[in-house]
Amino acid sequence: MTTSPSQADLTWTDDGQPFSAAFADVYFSRDSGLEETRHVFLHHNRLAQRWAALPAGSAFCIAETGFGTGLNFLCAWQLWDRLAPPGCRLHFVSTEKFPLSRDDLQRALALWPELRTWSAQLLDQYEDLAGGWQRFRFGGGRATLTLLIGDLHETLPQLEATVDAWFLDGFAPAKNPDMWRPQLYQQMVRLSAAGATVATFTSVGEVRRGLQAAGFTMYKVKGYGRKREMLAGELAQPNPPPWSAPWYARPGAAAARRTAMVIGAGLAGCSTAYALAQRGWSVTVIERHPSEAQEASGNPQGILYCKLSAHPTALSRFVQASYAYCLRVLRQRLTLDGSSWDACGILQLTADEKDAARLQAIAGNGYPASFLRWVDATEASEVAGVTLARGGLHFPGGGWVHPPALCRALLDHPDITLLPCHEAMQLRQQPGGWEALDAAGHTLARAEAAIVCAAADSRRFSPTEHLPLKAIRGQITHVPATPASRALRSVLCAEGYVSPARGDEHHVGASFRFDRIDCAPSVEENRSNLELLPSLSGNFAEAVEVASLDPARLQARAALRCTTPDYLPVVGPVVDAATFKARYAVLRKDAARQLDTPAPWLEGLYVNAAHGSRGLLSAPLSGELIAAWLENEPLPLPRPVAEAVHPSRFLLRELIRGGKRN
Ligand code: SAM
Repeated sequence: MTTSPSQADLTWTDDGQPFSAAFADVYFSRDSGLEETRHVFLHHNRLAQRWAALPAGSAFCIAETGFGTGLNFLCAWQLWDRLAPPGCRLHFVSTEKFPLSRDDLQRALALWPELRTWSAQLLDQYEDLAGGWQRFRFGGGRATLTLLIGDLHETLPQLEATVDAWFLDGFAPAKNPDMWRPQLYQQMVRLSAAGATVATFTSVGEVRRGLQAAGFTMYKVKGYGRKREMLAGELAQPNPPPWSAPWYARPGAAAARRTAMVIGAGLAGCSTAYALAQRGWSVTVIERHPSEAQEASGNPQGILYCKLSAHPTALSRFVQASYAYCLRVLRQRLTLDGSSWDACGILQLTADEKDAARLQAIAGNGYPASFLRWVDATEASEVAGVTLARGGLHFPGGGWVHPPALCRALLDHPDITLLPCHEAMQLRQQPGGWEALDAAGHTLARAEAAIVCAAADSRRFSPTEHLPLKAIRGQITHVPATPASRALRSVLCAEGYVSPARGDEHHVGASFRFDRIDCAPSVEENRSNLELLPSLSGNFAEAVEVASLDPARLQARAALRCTTPDYLPVVGPVVDAATFKARYAVLRKDAARQLDTPAPWLEGLYVNAAHGSRGLLSAPLSGELIAAWLENEPLPLPRPVAEAVHPSRFLLRELIRGGKRN
């Protein structure tokens, strides 16, 4: 799978309509794209009737092949806003192999002034897109768009969703035969809810027969405008799904659950609370400190460091999707004021020749230049405002964030209550939910769902004590800015990092120590942090007069990161560990055994932890992932990535590898 696809190759017709040069086909009807969409996709999926009849607070999922200009999405969202009862949430999942550039999207959408209210919101969040899963949330969560960027034959098999209506778009079968294959129809069946409907502009017999062979009941209906016929249909009786691992199955919908407690008000906890509150949950956040973001999320400048691999590993895919989503949340929730955050860009500098080859391989993966690009030392120096000896990757949209400002912004929701100065010591399952107790055994909160977001302290609760979470101490050093050092305009990263001044200070970091778990700043770590500066930029090190800085006098901050043996976070539902091991013990002997026994879920219990030093980047999407599990929504990540961060992976490895946890 390529990391990033090519952008759409558009030409514009004399009447200003987008035309695909690659497929030699139109994006929408020459007569009226808008009316065609309404006729083909909205009317023939009976959306108006179905939405008007939805119970308040429910959700509906549409999936589409070929996002293109987003016209179908915007029309659907417009109708949704008009008809769906309050509190209902639309999930629109769309596939796209050749995403439009932002400029082309803007030009195409300008054709539809009547959709301006909706297209403006899409354009606000839309950048030139890299590959993978891209999540967008609109209207406080009333509409969610998940774009699967890549060939749908690769992306759809990794989608986890339950689809109520299909928009089978894509260029005409004669122009794009590769898309209209039985594999697509089989994926549609796999992903469909009972009674799911489908509509498509084409009436080609092979498409009709393909959908029928997969299980859809199809009929020909009147097409739009001059088109005589099109196809519509329905999946009355879904086929029994193929075997899938019960240990990674959906724990079950949370239809009745609407209250949650979140333990821990760091970035993971605040992001989880935010994602749930946006879905109408009433959330209590329990925090032992007097306010949010007091531990690892309390550093003055967190770095949006999108550390990728040349190959699409689970970690790299997770980081990439998280980075893009985090930037969207920042733009929505924080003011770009140079105090809360600064999109000043990040330079990931090469360490040596081997590293240069690795970073160049990443740059060669076809990312849009607005996402990342290779820069040599000269260009890197221009970007940074200080002289650099090495080039590397430039992430123009990255930068630094004041994590406490983000935590505060995420908690600022009428349905979130922060319970400061309360330390949860025990978590007990009760009929209908969970109860958190303090050291004296007093109840702190009760809720139908509990999400443990307490970093390595998540192990103190008996239901989550089996998770192999480890604390690693890290220290950052505050370096006073000088007139010369203020020239630094971009974050510099290599072994460590240094940021442009926030107020009167730069921050350099961070140490990694496994031998200490206290948080008292150490002179020794200030020294090692200062030693990083010349390797990042000799010019900058001189500008802050590093030789005259006394490590014993510099301000510093130490905190504990939480990590796991495979360096991926732990995000998802929790099982009863002992029962899990007993129930799946046969996997020790036969790892390939296709067991059907359901996993012993601890109903309503979830964990979101172990974000290491990248919590700033990964917490917002992990909050979305928790909410998606809880609500039976489309997951915001490909299935294999969601499984790679699943809490049960360690128990499973222990069984399969006979005791080893990674
Ligand atoms: N629904 C779109 C709209 O509202 O503007 C129009 C879709 S356009 C006719 C077809 C789209 O399908 C193009 O954007 C094209 O890049 C995309 N496409 C074609 N083949 C694909 C494939 N195999 N996987 C994913 N997307 C594909």
